Amino acid sequence: MKQTSRIEINPERLLKDLKDLAQFGRLTTGVSRVSFSEADVQARHWLKTQMERAGLNAEFDAVGNVHGRTNTDAKSVIIGSHTDSVPVGGWLDGSLGVIYGLEIARSIIELGLANEIGIDVISFMDEEGTYLPCLGSKRFCRELGDDELAKGQSPSGERLPDAVERSGFMGNPEMSIDRARHLAYLEAHIEQGPRLEASRKEIGIVTGIVGIRRFKLEITGEADHAGTVPMSMRKDAGAAAIGLLHSLYKEIAKTKGPESVWNAGSIKFEPGAANVVPAKAEIIFEIRDLEPDILNALETSIHKTVENISPDDNITYLVTKTIDIPPSAMDTGLSDHILRSANAIGVSNMKMPSGAGHDAMVLSRHIQSAMLFIPSINGKSHSESEDTLEEHIITGCRVLAKTVESITSL
Ligand SMILES: [Zn+2]
Repeated sequence: MKQTSRIEINPERLLKDLKDLAQFGRLTTGVSRVSFSEADVQARHWLKTQMERAGLNAEFDAVGNVHGRTNTDAKSVIIGSHTDSVPVGGWLDGSLGVIYGLEIARSIIELGLANEIGIDVISFMDEEGTYLPCLGSKRFCRELGDDELAKGQSPSGERLPDAVERSGFMGNPEMSIDRARHLAYLEAHIEQGPRLEASRKEIGIVTGIVGIRRFKLEITGEADHAGTVPMSMRKDAGAAAIGLLHSLYKEIAKTKGPESVWNAGSIKFEPGAANVVPAKAEIIFEIRDLEPDILNALETSIHKTVENISPDDNITYLVTKTIDIPPSAMDTGLSDHILRSANAIGVSNMKMPSGAGHDAMVLSRHIQSAMLFIPSINGKSHSESEDTLEEHIITGCRVLAKTVESITSL
């Protein structure tokens, strides 16, 4: 028989809050609420008001994180995510995890449980990295000093400290993890991919957030007239780049792990004219996996492919690693709380890695952290077509509430 939960959430109120939040920066179906935009700052003020109405002590910190906590000394679970979006984004990316926190905290207060179960709800600033990726969670975890913060800049050239000042957050108190009070960090998020939907599961329990290594592959030949120089006499960097990619896809498939993904997301030819043989080509190639050993093997296969192709002395190849973000494992004990909670209330589930970055990546370096995914319709996100069935939104919040109950009853 399915167990009931002590923390009963209110589904209508949860959905209303999500829809109300989606009015800030609203597009046709999605939102545009990049960090420190008027819509983002207004949404943060709205959120602070909702937290206060729920009975939480709510404050902005010095970078614009919104932080609401139950007004007791009870041990507390941090529930967070972000309310900023990409420029043309969806209504649930980030917002879901924050509003889950609000609804769970509000239910706990209403049910008179706040002396036993503490909740801190946080909307972190700029997870999407308009100025600096995971700005809010890095600052909250004391990973980001003033010097590094000062280097943050938007694509339009506004400096991060100027954005903080303009938005009225400058000089607010700093906030961070309170080891005496905080037990764990939980983040719920839409999956942003098609796997849960394809597997017909209601929630995903995230095993970890994949590491990312990015490489710049530079291929150099010589420019020539595309009509007058015979094929055999050309040093064609463009043709060489395409040949290299073809070999790379074949080679990497031999070394991949079950969860590995890779992408050649950008390829450029110079000078880039129809009647000129390309003198240079540049490919940006990215690999992602949860396992450092597999990432190492994939990286080796990139170098091996280039070496095998290199004897052609008409062309030179250069591989430079430009990004190396290590994988973040989620806490297995905490993930088991999600698993048991989902099973206890009869919610279908599966374990899965996260292919995208999240604030939990930062938090997991400082406090035991876990993530829960709910399905994305057609796997879409970072676009206006991002959506999730209401029943899945409600189920995810119930599982998270049950998980909070499970963690705090130890
Ligand atoms: Zn997100």
